[in-house]
Amino acid sequence: MRLLIIGGGLFGSLAAVHARSHGIETLVFDPGLDGAASPAAAGIFSPNWISAKMRAHFDLALPMLERHFGIAQIDLAHDDGRCEKFSFVSPLQILDPAPLRKTVTAVGDGWLEADGERYAGWIYVAAGVWCSQFASDLQITSKAGAAYVFAGERPARIRQIAYGRQVIAFVRDAGTTHFTDGTAEADYSDMHNEATLERARQLGLTETPITRIWGRRPYTPGGPVFKQLGAKTWLATGGRKLGTILGASFARRLVEEEFTRTR
Ligand SMILES: Cc1cc2nc3c(=O)[nH]c(=O)nc-3n(C[C@H](O)[C@H](O)[C@H](O)COP(=O)(O)OP(=O)(O)OC[C@H]3O[C@@H](n4cnc5c(N)ncnc54)[C@H](O)[C@@H]3O)c2cc1C
Repeated sequence: MRLLIIGGGLFGSLAAVHARSHGIETLVFDPGLDGAASPAAAGIFSPNWISAKMRAHFDLALPMLERHFGIAQIDLAHDDGRCEKFSFVSPLQILDPAPLRKTVTAVGDGWLEADGERYAGWIYVAAGVWCSQFASDLQITSKAGAAYVFAGERPARIRQIAYGRQVIAFVRDAGTTHFTDGTAEADYSDMHNEATLERARQLGLTETPITRIWGRRPYTPGGPVFKQLGAKTWLATGGRKLGTILGASFARRLVEEEFTRTR
């Protein structure tokens, strides 16, 4: 049996990597929709950002991320010169390099249709904020934000701007500096965009950015969702600000628990 994954963001790509490492043939479908969250993610995480409720996900995710990608440690400098250590896996290491650029238009138990063609296999719906298209009872909302990329590599910085919220500038991708400020708005507008750019300027990033990466984080009430929709069909979403950790934890659950039980 092969695995067919709908969505090549962090959730879908982490499941693909983990399934392939267990010898499972896997196809990822993703047309690259505007507003996908994963390309914007900084890829930074810290035990200090994990609530007690999310601890089990963190403990499951870490060994899996270390095994497949290697977890880097980065030092971010506060304004007073104090350095704080964070863990980091770049989304660019994780995101599936060659998904089938097809939109999935219909899903049944053990099959899907894309571009008028039918494929059979286990199905994993990992379509971020678009998941409700495949599970009508799923309540899902989004909170948007944008990251800005500046030319050149600057020193890694962090500044606390509110409780649980930081602006961060660091080298996510060689030759550039990635800036993110934790903006997460249901009703995202130009005003939020301008506020993010202003925070970048306040951190010394005054030139025109070379790229803006805008994305919608998926939120589900009561916490992230992993559910079985049919004998051969599963869905996972609700990555919020923790897509790397939750995507990895759910990939382990899918491959190590659900498939083992189903096979
Ligand atoms: C600015 C910003 C910064 C962030 N920083 C971090 C961070 O530092 N650390 C962290 O852990 N998280 C971070 N996040 C959160 C993280 O990005 C999300 O939780 C995570 O990316 C969600 O992943 P996903 O795969 O569920 O969704 P997405 O990344 O949105 O992926 C869903 C994919 O499904 C595809 N799709 C949709 N419909 C279909 C269809 N019908 N057929 C085929 N494909 C389809 C879309 O094209 C899309 O690529 C950040 C988010 C933002 C916006």
